[in-house]
Amino acid sequence: MQKPVIVVHGGAWNIPDDLVDPHIEGVRNAVKIGWDVLVNGGSALDAVEAAVKTMEDDPTFDAGKGSFLNEEGFVELDAIIMDGSTLDVGAVAAVRNIKNPIVLARKVMELTEHVLLVGEGANKFAKKIGIKMVDPRELVLEREVERWKAFKKGKLNVKDIFEPASKGTVGAVAVDINGNFAAATSTGGVAGKMVGRVGDTPLVGCGTYVDNNYGAVSSTGHGEKIMKIVLAKEVINLIAQGCNAQEAAEKAIELVWNRLRGRAGVIVLDKNGNIGVSYNTPRMAYAYIKDGKIFSGI
Ligand code: ASP
Repeated sequence: MQKPVIVVHGGAWNIPDDLVDPHIEGVRNAVKIGWDVLVNGGSALDAVEAAVKTMEDDPTFDAGKGSFLNEEGFVELDAIIMDGSTLDVGAVAAVRNIKNPIVLARKVMELTEHVLLVGEGANKFAKKIGIKMVDPRELVLEREVERWKAFKKGKLNVKDIFEPASKGTVGAVAVDINGNFAAATSTGGVAGKMVGRVGDTPLVGCGTYVDNNYGAVSSTGHGEKIMKIVLAKEVINLIAQGCNAQEAAEKAIELVWNRLRGRAGVIVLDKNGNIGVSYNTPRMAYAYIKDGKIFSGI
């Protein structure tokens, strides 16, 4: 029997001092929920879905309710989930009426022939399988309306968002007692993004990758840079070349910086159950449970 392990992150960005506590509380809460699934014999897939769903429901994070607004003042969400035993993947992008895009992503994986559904098509599928649509306004927080107004007035620009980085995408990686790995990531993207902009998160190999033969990865940070490096798969390739989780995480983040001056973070679990955490933003909220002990950092 494999020892279960779960790692979660709540995004790599310049988390201000007053938001440190809610971030730590949020990732600790999520990791415990995922851990409960694992110790009760649940699958890694169920554990990462439960952990990510918990953070989507927590308005602290840029995922689900409370996400950044796009240039027209709407929340548009991206999410992905992947199974390391089969390499099955499900993802959704630019969805507006869905409270928990990670749940819909899992349904795409399990109930369709496809990997990624976007916008209207994703909504139609959700409706068909009975996932409740919410009014997009339910996902909007006053805090984000204020940020959006500043963006519109030109007081906030893309540089402010990415330098040192964007805010709080959420993600989780886990291994269950059967030795199966899974990974999941969910985001509202970046503030003031163009309508229809899709970042790295729902793209397999960029925001997420997992393969039982090597390990599991969830990324966060500047999506346009992460996509060009294919960051999550880069980490997996480094593990395949002999790096452990921490070495692979550090090397991949160095590459994002050295090649593109990109800001990003990753959480990694390698096939031996080692954990890796690396980021080049001022802060990244993360937590893990291994051998029954919880650890969190920021
Ligand atoms: N990677 C996400 C995106 O670019 C944002 C983030 O991680 O904060 O959509």
